[in-house]
Amino acid sequence: MQANGTVPAVEHGVNLRTFNAFGLPAQAHTLVRIDSDATLRRVIDHPELGRAPKFILGGGSNIVFTRDPQAVVLKVEVRGRRLIEERRDAWIVEAGAGENWHDTVAWTIEQGWPGLENLALIPGSVGAAPVQNIGAYGVELRERFESLDVVDLVTGRSATLSLDACHFGYRDSVFKHSLAGKSVITRVRFRLPRPWKPVLGYLELERKVAETGITQPDAQTILEWVCAIRRAKLPDPAQIGNVGSFFKNPVVSAEQCRDIIGRDPEVVHYPLPDGSVKLAAGWLIDACGWKGKSIGRAGVYEKQALVLVNRGGASGAEVLTLARAIQESVYGRFGIRLEPEPVVV
Ligand SMILES: Cc1cc2nc3c(=O)[nH]c(=O)nc-3n(C[C@H](O)[C@H](O)[C@H](O)COP(=O)(O)OP(=O)(O)OC[C@H]3O[C@@H](n4cnc5c(N)ncnc54)[C@H](O)[C@@H]3O)c2cc1C
Repeated sequence: MQANGTVPAVEHGVNLRTFNAFGLPAQAHTLVRIDSDATLRRVIDHPELGRAPKFILGGGSNIVFTRDPQAVVLKVEVRGRRLIEERRDAWIVEAGAGENWHDTVAWTIEQGWPGLENLALIPGSVGAAPVQNIGAYGVELRERFESLDVVDLVTGRSATLSLDACHFGYRDSVFKHSLAGKSVITRVRFRLPRPWKPVLGYLELERKVAETGITQPDAQTILEWVCAIRRAKLPDPAQIGNVGSFFKNPVVSAEQCRDIIGRDPEVVHYPLPDGSVKLAAGWLIDACGWKGKSIGRAGVYEKQALVLVNRGGASGAEVLTLARAIQESVYGRFGIRLEPEPVVV
């Protein structure tokens, strides 16, 4: 296909082990690097590639490969970062979907446009951030979101989606539902509010304020705190394969929560504005005795039961066997079905 010159950078038989943070074995029969909307359109217009099913790959930090993807893998590598507009109430910043997320966060702060610091060190790409509305330490992407550009994988048409059109929810968006696998996000624009206000309500950040005595940290200090907190409790995928939180925190009714508290008074829970209650999935898993346990070469991280890890050479099937065993024991004890956070292929 490369020979006819219509689609650049088509690769065959690509080992995906280094393209997924879990380090799981998988091979792409065809992989195309997408560095621009124009390259993407050439793939869509191509007589063979255009008709084939597609799988969109960013940094691979929220994917569990249980087999070789049968679809053509589109590796999104659209680059570029710039300030679009300096409004009185916000800086509007744009980044290409293939930019590294953490580097982009650090860059905005260096440029003097704070607001993304609580989301520092989340692995992956800018383009995948809206897919599950990434969140950490009291901030979700949707709170810093302006709009994004997509290209439809069937028609090749471009569109710009606003905040409302993305239907963001807890680790959720339209890209996990009606647009799942149908549109490639090529650029994301952020709205970074002015004047900047630190978000320090999260318990571990409150502890940093108390420990350091810095009551009015700047964005760079918060970024460094967030990085230190994350490094202390989460495994680095470069050393131990993992995809961060493996399950979403379940949301239950106030009544169901009271019932659980009646039996397990220590359950970690957060009341939500609508009267429902979010439970800490990691606590539920730990309470079932899973921390540090393994099935085959897949295990539960010693420091955080919400994180499943590759103990070396694990297959996607082993990870799923472990995940199902955890789901069964949490359901058996608490009557709660844990829902996986990553995409299973
Ligand atoms: C150690 C660790 C810690 C983590 N901590 C957090 C955390 O605190 N908060 C959090 O929310 N997440 C966290 N995650 C999960 C992960 O980092 C995020 O989900 C991240 O946004 C995934 O980015 P990615 O580029 O690797 O996406 P991938 O894993 O490549 O893809 C994820 C999904 O998005 C789709 N996708 C990717 N790029 C595009 C695109 N350009 N257009 C359309 N669809 C696309 C893919 O098809 C797939 O369905 C963590 C992961 C790890 C390994």
